[in-house]
Amino acid sequence: MSPFDYIRAGNVGEALQAGAGEQVRYLAGGTNLVDLMKENVERPVTVVDINRLPLDRIEELDGGGLRLGALVPNADTAWDERVERRYPLLSSAILAGASPQLRNAATNGGNLNQRTRCYYFYDVATPCNKREPGSGCGAIGGVNRIHAVLGGSEQCIATHPSDMCVALAALDAVVRVSGPGGDREIAFSDYHRLPGDEPWRDNNLQPGELVTGIDLPAEDFTQNYTYLKLRDRLSYAFALVSVAVAMRLEGGTIAEVRVALGGVAHKPWRRPEAEQQLHGVAPSPQAFGAFSDALLAGAVGQGENDFKIPLARKAIVRALKQAAGATPQSQTDKRVA
Ligand code: SF4
Repeated sequence: MSPFDYIRAGNVGEALQAGAGEQVRYLAGGTNLVDLMKENVERPVTVVDINRLPLDRIEELDGGGLRLGALVPNADTAWDERVERRYPLLSSAILAGASPQLRNAATNGGNLNQRTRCYYFYDVATPCNKREPGSGCGAIGGVNRIHAVLGGSEQCIATHPSDMCVALAALDAVVRVSGPGGDREIAFSDYHRLPGDEPWRDNNLQPGELVTGIDLPAEDFTQNYTYLKLRDRLSYAFALVSVAVAMRLEGGTIAEVRVALGGVAHKPWRRPEAEQQLHGVAPSPQAFGAFSDALLAGAVGQGENDFKIPLARKAIVRALKQAAGATPQSQTDKRVA
């Protein structure tokens, strides 16, 4: 680990002031950043500890939504009575991720900003355009079983590792940000980026900006939803493919549906225009199959990850069936008595 200056901020203003320099990183739970620093993947000059900022609450919003503070631990968010009752898709997705210990330490803001788990990104002896721009991509033509099949570029085929973010994408959450230019809101679909020719940029935060919270709009996806996660182990493993479905049925037909995929792209993958084709349609394997083809249009394997395309197709159909039947994938085994 390289030496760094450590600053503990007492409020958002202090954090932004300290965050204005070069090579600054904000430290919250540290479950990803500290690992990256130990491996010399991240070498910040200054670390600004934001754990004392007053961003550790879940609050009601006018109009019926919820605001998740950036520093609320993932576990506290998942088990919050309001989140469990009003946003069970989000609770389910959070509980599908990591381990109880990590969920206790990791924060909501950190979950958004965690970095890819691409093997090459973590191995400083290998080329990686995300870690070292211009050095190449070890995964293209290399070991790429966990990599993207959608939205990749010639420079990077990494995936975003979060489960929570897949649910937030389906829920049309809004990310609240403070920075040198003031406060702003970013629609969740615009928060993370595809790699393009700037694969080192995971999201659209500007230098010095800090995530302060996540707003959940008032929506009723409490009956017909699911977070279906497929992975190599039953726990403590990242998704090979995951599917978040938020659906609303009226009179036996789909009045609204949103579907986001994890494990397949550099960001949670949604195609709202494809979702339109399910609106007003009765749930059926044929309709779900046609939708999965539309959502996966243009998917390209890299060899070892070719299996993700047919796996994703089946997972989408299964997840839609679970949501339509109000039989979501259960995460009750994650409850700690
Ligand atoms: Fe780096 Fe992206 Fe290539 Fe992985 S996929 S080696 S993160 S450039």
